[in-house]
Amino acid sequence: MLYRLKNDFRLSIITLLSVCAIVGITPFAVYRLINGDQLAAIVDTLILLSICSVMAYAWMSGDTRRSGVIMAVVVCCGGLVVVSLQHIIGLFWLYPCFITSFFLTSSRLAVLINGLALFTLGVFKVGNIPSEQLVSFITTAIVVSACAYVFSRRNESQRRRLEQLATLDPLTGVKNRRAMEEELHKAVLNLQRHQIQYGLAIIDLDHFKAINDEHGHAEGDQVLIKCVDIITDQIRQSDQLFRFGGEEFVLLLPGTDESGLISVTQNLLEVIREQLQSPSARVTASFGLACLGAKENADDWMARADSALYQAKENGRDQVVMADSASHHPQKDTAVA
Ligand code: GH3
Ligand code: MG
Ligand code: MG
Repeated sequence: MLYRLKNDFRLSIITLLSVCAIVGITPFAVYRLINGDQLAAIVDTLILLSICSVMAYAWMSGDTRRSGVIMAVVVCCGGLVVVSLQHIIGLFWLYPCFITSFFLTSSRLAVLINGLALFTLGVFKVGNIPSEQLVSFITTAIVVSACAYVFSRRNESQRRRLEQLATLDPLTGVKNRRAMEEELHKAVLNLQRHQIQYGLAIIDLDHFKAINDEHGHAEGDQVLIKCVDIITDQIRQSDQLFRFGGEEFVLLLPGTDESGLISVTQNLLEVIREQLQSPSARVTASFGLACLGAKENADDWMARADSALYQAKENGRDQVVMADSASHHPQKDTAVA
């Protein structure tokens, strides 16, 4: 639970708002009920129930994007209800409502939700606010929302940049090992939940150290970049290529069974053999293949592909080796080229 709160900003904001609402609104609801103000007590309870339902939905479904939008709408509607009951005093509550919209959803949707709230306030004369105060409020609310919008846009672009830095390999531009680990775990879940098959290939350039030794590290880098270009030219959009480390890449192919995996990688093997070269010689690659087993985890899946790669190297390199399927014990790998 703490892990989810720490790692999901929107979930933590939804939870924080809900806890604040429970702590802040419950005493008012009870006080109003005791004083016989039943309408206000019912309104307070309804706002509380709506907020708690959104929080429960966010925790159960994990869909914090949708929960955030619903929560922003609920909070702004709650603010308008407060204005209709408390008139000018209630207007002050709309400022925090408008700010929280930017924490709960994207900046554009927040502007839309806040704009609709202001429109409703002005056109339907919610709370019968006198014109002078209404114009002042709408103007200041627009200024507050505009500042929050600029801040939120900046935040979003910095977050995107950080995500890129954290998941992309700077040399080749493909996703890095950290991103790969996430995708492999997603694949394991997808197989269990939706029966989507996955093929995986570890691709390791042959005798790469010799290229560095003979031509220098910079030439080695160029070979790595060219290798990525060649592979990305051949694969489908849904396939994902990762730089696993050094001169090793991992190719993840959704919706691919053993025969599909063999034909795709066999083609890659040949294209690399024909097109990839160092300043002095052709460069080849060895492939270790494995299809995800029904009850297999990501580590075991990678381990099978890795042992098939080891076998490909042992057999003389420049070839594709398929690991035995996950249910076979002990593992025995089958060379296919
Ligand atoms: P094998 O056929 O058994 O795979 O032999 P190999 O020489 O390809 O493998 P080895 O593991 O001995 O060497 C890998 C080399 O890759 C050693 C390392 O210096 C080099 N390397 C790792 N990362 C980079 C990089 O980012 N750029 C360059 N140019 N070289 C790198
Ligand atoms: Mg190598
Ligand atoms: Mg290697």
